[in-house]
Amino acid sequence: MTRLVLILGDQLSEGLSALKAADPARDVVVMAEVMDEGTYVPHHPKKIALVLAAMRKFAAHLRQLGWQVAYRRLDEEGADSIVGELLRRAEEFDASEVLATTPGEWRLIRALKYAPLKVHFHADDRFLATRADFADWAAGKKQLRMEYFYRLMRKKTGLLMEGYDPAGGKWNYDAENRKAPPKEIDHAGPLRFEPDDGVKDVLDLVEARFGTHFGELRPFWFATTRDQALEALAHFITYALPQFGDFQDAMMTDERWLYHAILSPYLNIGLLSPLEVCEAAEAEWQAGRAPLNAVEGFIRQILGWREFVRGIYFIEGEDYPSRNALGQTRALPSLYWGAETEMHCLSQVVRQTQEEAYAHHIQRLMVTGNFALLAGVDPAEVHDWYLAVYADAFEWVEAPNTVGMSQFADGGIIASKPYVSSGAYIDRMSNYCASCAYKVKQKTGEGACPFNLLYWHFLNRHRDRFEGNPRMGNMYRTWDRMDADKRDVILQEADAFLAKLEAGEKV
Ligand code: FAD
Ligand code: SF4
Repeated sequence: MTRLVLILGDQLSEGLSALKAADPARDVVVMAEVMDEGTYVPHHPKKIALVLAAMRKFAAHLRQLGWQVAYRRLDEEGADSIVGELLRRAEEFDASEVLATTPGEWRLIRALKYAPLKVHFHADDRFLATRADFADWAAGKKQLRMEYFYRLMRKKTGLLMEGYDPAGGKWNYDAENRKAPPKEIDHAGPLRFEPDDGVKDVLDLVEARFGTHFGELRPFWFATTRDQALEALAHFITYALPQFGDFQDAMMTDERWLYHAILSPYLNIGLLSPLEVCEAAEAEWQAGRAPLNAVEGFIRQILGWREFVRGIYFIEGEDYPSRNALGQTRALPSLYWGAETEMHCLSQVVRQTQEEAYAHHIQRLMVTGNFALLAGVDPAEVHDWYLAVYADAFEWVEAPNTVGMSQFADGGIIASKPYVSSGAYIDRMSNYCASCAYKVKQKTGEGACPFNLLYWHFLNRHRDRFEGNPRMGNMYRTWDRMDADKRDVILQEADAFLAKLEAGEKV
């Protein structure tokens, strides 16, 4: 009897476990563009276009390989949901069983589990650690620290290992990777691809159906096939990797890419595998073309962080994305959706997000994330925003980064202390402050940088939770040493700023 093989928009890998378990002579691949997936949060139009264009090309590729593919385009007749489409195809092909690679988010796992069909789940083996590997490692540990998991993964994969020892004698070269922004960037950014006719069709469709979503659809230049993604990887490895480490945390006005990879969208939809990306970087170091600090820093992001956050997402369970350990409740300010702001750092990062569906890690963590946390925004709203606006945002990776690392809403599972800073950090790591209407060195009064006010407001209102944290004691001692009048002024000015924010006034 025919079985259906479900392939989701982030499962575009030839070696997918559901495909390996299926038989092209008997089974039918089901792929579907459905409204529910495009709208459960208002995804950035570039992200929707990337996924749909890559799905169509992957379906064509599977047909060339001999698979029968039942593909539903959004503008064709069909259901609004994945399960609805499966039921429709089950009737069409007289099938009652579905082979599925376990989806990367609880929402879809739940939907498939309760579908009136027999769904056989196959583990998603496109990662370097299985869910069981991670759960075994985590079992019984009081604190889960990425660094130790990463070392285990280095040993397991042999990446950057010299026998039993880490290459170069150290596991981590981060101390060399925090340089302030350079004077200029000699790299033009990621490889861009001119849309072909198929991609243009998708762009027209996305414009018609999702044109009201936040974000600019054109120009669209993402890779939409594996071959193109491999070209994008080679481009990064050759032209940006050698400088990746040095300026990994830097931010610059009107410089969107610096030496970042811009490979996460391709990794996350399955066009590239994490191992091949890490091996390509390692080979560059072995050939003497990229320094160890850059290559180790890059591999740690993928072999360490990417695998670690996925492990956390799955061991923590379905409620993880809705946690709110700090009880923060403010609505997400309209500046996140493009309302004007005098804060140059925020306007730069939001503008770039709107145009590119991309911001690099420190922009996400220390500008938009830091501000939301300091301002007391409800982490569920922050989570929905990050899930919507980035081309690489899929819940298994986005939620731990947002809810955990950036908003501390998991109570400290991912981060041992909240990632909060005053304006000084942003000033050190960027050239944003030089072009800002606010003054980063000013602590209070007209023109004082809002991060300076909100930083103390945050620490003060969460004192009970954080003053005993050994990594935060210094901050509280500095606050306590401040003149009482000064502390009052800071808190009053922070309150006034938050009231303006709440009222939707331009800040
Ligand atoms: P590079 O800086 O060049 O890093 C190389 C690769 O390492 C990335 O392609 C990515 O696959 C991986 N990587 C780096 N950091 C992380 C991390 N913390 N977690 C997982 N993988 C990582 N990443 C996503 O892929 N999807 C998300 O939805 C996402 N949401 C985030 C939300 C917040 C609040 C924060 C702070 C970070 C988030 N990240 C997310 C992690 C990181 O910001 C992006 O992976 C990175 O910016 C992607 O750009 P890049 O390819 O240029 O990365
Ligand atoms: Fe951002 Fe403050 Fe610097 Fe302005 S002065 S760019 S608000 S950190």
